[in-house]
Amino acid sequence: MFISRMLRSLRVSFCFGMTERAEETRRLSVKRRPPDTDSDESDGEDYRPYVSLKQRRKQMHEKRGKIFRPGQKQDNESANRTEDEILAAERSRAALSLLDQHSELKKVAEAQKESALEKQAKEEEKILENISERTALMAASELAKGIQYTKSLETSWRPPRYLEGLSETKREQIRQKYHILVEGYDLPPPVKTFREMKFPRPVITAMKAKGIVHPTPIQIQGIPTVLSGRDMIGIAFTGSGKTLVFALPIVMFCLEQEIRMPFVRDEGPYALIVCPSRELAHQTYDVLHHYAEALRSAGHPRLRTILSIGGTAIRDQVEGIRRGCHVVVATPGRLMDLLAKKLMRLEMCRFLVLDEADRMVDMGFEEDVRTILSYFRSQRQTLLFSATMPKKIQNFARSALVKPVTINVGRAGAANLDVIQEIEYVKQEAKIVYLLECLQKTAPPVLVFAQKKADVDDMHEYLLLKGVDAVAIHGGKDQEERQWAIRQFREGKKDVLIATDIASKGLDFSDIQHVINYDMPEDMESYVHRVGRTGRCGKTGVATTFINKSCSESTLIDLKHLLVEAKQRIPPVLAALKSQNDEYLDLGDERGCAYCGGLGHRITDCPKLEAMQTKQATNITRREYLANSSADW
Ligand code: AMP
Repeated sequence: MFISRMLRSLRVSFCFGMTERAEETRRLSVKRRPPDTDSDESDGEDYRPYVSLKQRRKQMHEKRGKIFRPGQKQDNESANRTEDEILAAERSRAALSLLDQHSELKKVAEAQKESALEKQAKEEEKILENISERTALMAASELAKGIQYTKSLETSWRPPRYLEGLSETKREQIRQKYHILVEGYDLPPPVKTFREMKFPRPVITAMKAKGIVHPTPIQIQGIPTVLSGRDMIGIAFTGSGKTLVFALPIVMFCLEQEIRMPFVRDEGPYALIVCPSRELAHQTYDVLHHYAEALRSAGHPRLRTILSIGGTAIRDQVEGIRRGCHVVVATPGRLMDLLAKKLMRLEMCRFLVLDEADRMVDMGFEEDVRTILSYFRSQRQTLLFSATMPKKIQNFARSALVKPVTINVGRAGAANLDVIQEIEYVKQEAKIVYLLECLQKTAPPVLVFAQKKADVDDMHEYLLLKGVDAVAIHGGKDQEERQWAIRQFREGKKDVLIATDIASKGLDFSDIQHVINYDMPEDMESYVHRVGRTGRCGKTGVATTFINKSCSESTLIDLKHLLVEAKQRIPPVLAALKSQNDEYLDLGDERGCAYCGGLGHRITDCPKLEAMQTKQATNITRREYLANSSADW
């Protein structure tokens, strides 16, 4: 009885549990069922109609009293208005013609592109800052003592009175007429004749003997600048007459000193001219000698110029310096040697000329220049000349100069506009044979450039075999042979000169008809220097460059842009090349690479900078490695 009661109660409780769960399920199913469902259970008293989530949320907000607040109402209104506006804009756009829509979209895209340009410009500035020369081009003693010169040197030269009184606007008009760009404070006036520059008659006659009657643009502004005692950066294409800008004033200043107090034994030099190559030094020496001799034959005191270059006997040079000299023209290596051995002193030196300064830095003479400066004992007038002047060197130069005047005739790095530049695609194996055909393009004299000494020798041999009167020079030949070859070519005894780049830097051969680049140089500066050997001083010339698969694309793109700038014909093989810089050029930004001056790329993609940085990195690693390994020993 007891057991059956227990079982019953258990069953009841069990059944009760079952009923409760069923009831719950039923309630849920009712809730989920749509209100119109036809079912007997729909009449249940627990029935609640279906309310969508959106409505439930709205109800909740209503409950919390969030809706219909005044601010919120306004927000809603403004949201509605924006929607209206958007609709209206879309409608009006639909009303616009496709062309108008396109130009609108283009405007938006250009605005975006401009901001990308700004970003790139900032990045470029940062790179340039990192690579710019921070060590000033100053003597170590000056750096150590913190000596800074603030005033330019005084000279006795004054421009003609009527020019001195000329307003800056009038002076600027003259500069504009001759396409002279000048930067700096307190600029000397441009002077349009040699007579107004106050050169004595014998100098003017000596110039006439060389066919020099009217000053060139760089001379119009440059000579008065140097005569006024100002430091100067001269950027001019090769053949523009930049040698005379420093040579004539130096001759005049030396003459003035000699008349005041003659130079005696062991005195001098009063002026030092540093050139990157022996050939250029020789040529500069010849120019100075020509005007010094002209003055002497007219009864003026004798001015002594010494040529101090490697490859010739040092004894004669030392003897010349001991006798007392006014000017030394030197290459860095020999000059360092003389200074280190105390065979030459720079205590009296008041002029320093760095010719082809960019080449000098490029060729690794930068540290030598710094060392040379450490031998100066007082302020000097520093003149820097170059056909190309990348920004990093301009910064480097500015640190050495006092209130410099920068004179630019033609964009730094642009090839001479008087040269017709032709580019020909010639396969590597066909080059030497095609060279013979190419020589027929013009009458002699012709200059042929190649990168490698071996190529120079091969071409020389081939042309001699074919009966062409050719001579060759490169760094592997001794100085006497080099000098002989240059003399023969200059005097017109030989028709063709084949050379490596040693002949491309500032060497002046008159009337070169044709320059042939047997290969395309890696950097555009070398190309500009090579091409600049022809078309000098207003004459026109032809330059032919062989290109083929071995040329890097980046070099060819730079070449293409240089040709565009010089208004030359672009061969289809170059026209097809596209560069990252194209979009900058489209937007009128024609600066190109701030490091090497190449127009086809930006500093962010400069192969030359990359090569330099890799070289530096490997040098550092090697140095560190050597330092560590020597420490181990
Ligand atoms: P440079 O640029 O100094 O190497 O000079 C190149 C050539 O131009 C040299 O042969 C000079 O004799 C010649 N030259 C320099 N100045 C003038 C001038 N004012 N008129 C004509 N020829 C000049």
